Amino acid sequence: MTHPSVPFLDLKAVQMTQRDELRAAFDRVLDSGWYILGQEVAQFEAEYAAWCGAAHCIGVANGLDALTLALRAMGVEAGDEVIVPSNTYIATWLAVSHIGAVPVPVEPDPLTFNLDPARIEAAITPKTKVILPVHLYGQAAEMAPILAVARQHGLRVLEDGAQAHGARVQGQRVGAHGDAVAWSFYPGKNLGALGDGGAVTTSDPQIAERLRVLRNYGSRVKYHNEVIGYNSRLDELQAALLRAKLPALQGQNERRAAIAQRYLQGLAGLGLSLPFVPPGHEPVWHLFVVRHPRRDELAQGLAALGVHTMIHYPVAPHLQPAYASLGMKAGSLPISEAMHAQVLSLPIGPTQTDAQTDQVIAAVREVAHRLHKLAA
Ligand SMILES: *Cc1c(COP(=O)(O)O)cnc(C)c1O
Repeated sequence: MTHPSVPFLDLKAVQMTQRDELRAAFDRVLDSGWYILGQEVAQFEAEYAAWCGAAHCIGVANGLDALTLALRAMGVEAGDEVIVPSNTYIATWLAVSHIGAVPVPVEPDPLTFNLDPARIEAAITPKTKVILPVHLYGQAAEMAPILAVARQHGLRVLEDGAQAHGARVQGQRVGAHGDAVAWSFYPGKNLGALGDGGAVTTSDPQIAERLRVLRNYGSRVKYHNEVIGYNSRLDELQAALLRAKLPALQGQNERRAAIAQRYLQGLAGLGLSLPFVPPGHEPVWHLFVVRHPRRDELAQGLAALGVHTMIHYPVAPHLQPAYASLGMKAGSLPISEAMHAQVLSLPIGPTQTDAQTDQVIAAVREVAHRLHKLAA
């Protein structure tokens, strides 16, 4: 029997679960006659800050700007150094580079894919200003030891929360730990707009105030410009849509967690490395990432069975042409490079059915057994 194919993430199906709320939000903005920095953005900022357990939220145009402006609000300048994970989406590094600062990569813990706190100290120099952990694939980084190293050396901590809306560590949601968190609301994220969007949450009133000025042309009072700012504002329309979506997020994250549990049970014992959740963590499963030494053959075999997978990410940032000037050769960050060669993301999303999940499990079992026999 042939099955219909399983999409990697059916974004349209996700939106259709809230079609009426989204249309009502659109009408509200259309009828308001106010489209930039109005009530919708202010309300969303208040609601999202409360949801994260932070005192302030500042809406910006996208996740990359959230990172860049937050670094500037923390006082990072050209020539400074920022500690970043060696394995992340390249936006984390680009934000540092856009300020003229230098991204200093630190290798991850191969079990969790997140920044290894034990390796941070060796990367700190007199130029280091900020540690920038990423909560990769929806699981929070080890915030307690990271914050401890930062405090010891007088460094700020900016978190990249683009993949971790609602993830908890030590019982607290991401947003309540470090000095600030940068968020993306790109459509494919756990909390996604219908276009680009981003935000920074923080409980530091000074960082919040600087961000409000930076995002709006460096101005507090219209046509009076205090600093060389940006035009990076969250749209009223996207804010209204995000307000409609925020109440559904917890339920969607729980659905992702149920799918992940089904995968963890159904895929054990196949010679595949499965995601590891350390004690005290509640991930939100933005991605379900497995590792296999013959990743490309696994992906091809799954595609032939109608299962769509993706690779997050195929090339490590230090080996991208964009970072050729760093002069870091293949082999210089071996943990990250091995991950980039082996990771494969299986389909996951809040509207994925148990039948679809079981179809993925059956397909992975079939292809993994075949690859195992070839190897034997
Ligand atoms: C998506 C993402 C970003 C960038 O967000 P945009 O809104 O696309 O600019 C940054 N960091 C990580 C880890 C991401 O996944």
